[in-house]
Amino acid sequence: MRSKMSFYTHLECSACGERHDASVVQTVCTKCGKPLFARYDLEAAKEAVTRRELVGRESTMWRYWELLPVKSRRNVVTLGEGWTPLTPTPRLGVEIGVPDLWVKDEGIIPTGSFKARGLAMAISKAKELGIRRVALPSAGNAAGSMAAYGARAGMEVYVFMPMDAPKVNIVECEVVGARVVLVDGLITDAGKLVREGSGVMEWFNVATLGEPFRLEGKKTMGLEVAEQMDWTLPDVIVYPTGGGTGIIGMWKVFDEMEELGWIGSERPRMVSVQAEGCAPIVKAWREGKMESEFFPDAHTIAAGLRVPKALGDFLILRAARESGGTCVAVSDEEIMDSVGQVSRAEGLFACPEGAATLAALKRMLADGQVDKKEKVVLFNTGSGLKYVDLFKVHAPVADPSKPFDYQSLLIHKKHFSRSALP
Ligand SMILES: *Cc1c(COP(=O)(O)O)cnc(C)c1O
Ligand SMILES: [Zn+2]
Repeated sequence: MRSKMSFYTHLECSACGERHDASVVQTVCTKCGKPLFARYDLEAAKEAVTRRELVGRESTMWRYWELLPVKSRRNVVTLGEGWTPLTPTPRLGVEIGVPDLWVKDEGIIPTGSFKARGLAMAISKAKELGIRRVALPSAGNAAGSMAAYGARAGMEVYVFMPMDAPKVNIVECEVVGARVVLVDGLITDAGKLVREGSGVMEWFNVATLGEPFRLEGKKTMGLEVAEQMDWTLPDVIVYPTGGGTGIIGMWKVFDEMEELGWIGSERPRMVSVQAEGCAPIVKAWREGKMESEFFPDAHTIAAGLRVPKALGDFLILRAARESGGTCVAVSDEEIMDSVGQVSRAEGLFACPEGAATLAALKRMLADGQVDKKEKVVLFNTGSGLKYVDLFKVHAPVADPSKPFDYQSLLIHKKHFSRSALP
């Protein structure tokens, strides 16, 4: 077997194309402030690795070593993230009228959400560049992932979260030794505190798309879907969008795969899903704009979608446009109904963000934007287990000293209690 090397060469601005040196710490474009993309010597990579050589490699996202930015294996900080199941969900598919339905299930990943991919990559690359202290403004899952990988890398981790962040996210950070600050304000206020603290604390800010490598971790979802479908991409990919790193990363890696000859020029239609209470991308899409505006009063139970303005908005909109896809907003009621529906039909306890993709798919089937014969992949981006606070318990209490009415337990599938909104 040939020894593996990374073909990462440099960074390039996703908006103006300005080239940036890969050997030093970079954040965003020094000219225009937009996100930077990692670039690879794909011609050389094409000679070095074929699709067939991937077979039998490690069952993690690190199997795509040639297309990842970490240069030395010694710097990899991993808990075994990636290579998650692409689960066929025919019972759910038949129920909603699109039988060839699949769920890429990111609920089964260290730290319980796909933020693990991005932060494993960002922390590994930060380690390679000599960074010892990292900070992040986060409303939830990103903080948990950063704290875990930061702990494993032996780094100091600082997290700034809005006071109303879910308890699970605060606890998962503190338990692994991160320093958490609760901010009496919004995520934007937390972001400001991290930026202003850089002077005194000299920490590296790992905010979404404020550094180039979380995107490289997330792009591995696109590689995995392709490989798991035997290098034929589905007709439609439905993705819940907050900061957009996943959809942007997948759209980027499809081009890289094509240059390597791993796939052809065909692409899935990329559908970006948001919650009605925070839908800056969908609003921009409907208005035919290339960028979004700050979405005021952002609110939704799907915490990962609570991003009122994304630095990479123009890239999300571009992926939807160039792929012939679309952007869809769904309500919190539809989201919670869909959590129940996918969970009951398939035993897959989806997170609200993941269930939002099902709600969007049902709308698209209803208005003819997706055909019942198409192959569709939904992204469940985290485990429902991180969101138990959103659910009511319906269980009756049995008194062992009295006779129990077993008949009252009979399950009538149609009337099974729906998940309750808070
Ligand atoms: C952060 C998050 C999202 C949004 O992901 P982006 O790639 O930033 O758009 C979706 N689902 C969950 C569970 C998240 O934590
Ligand atoms: Zn630029």
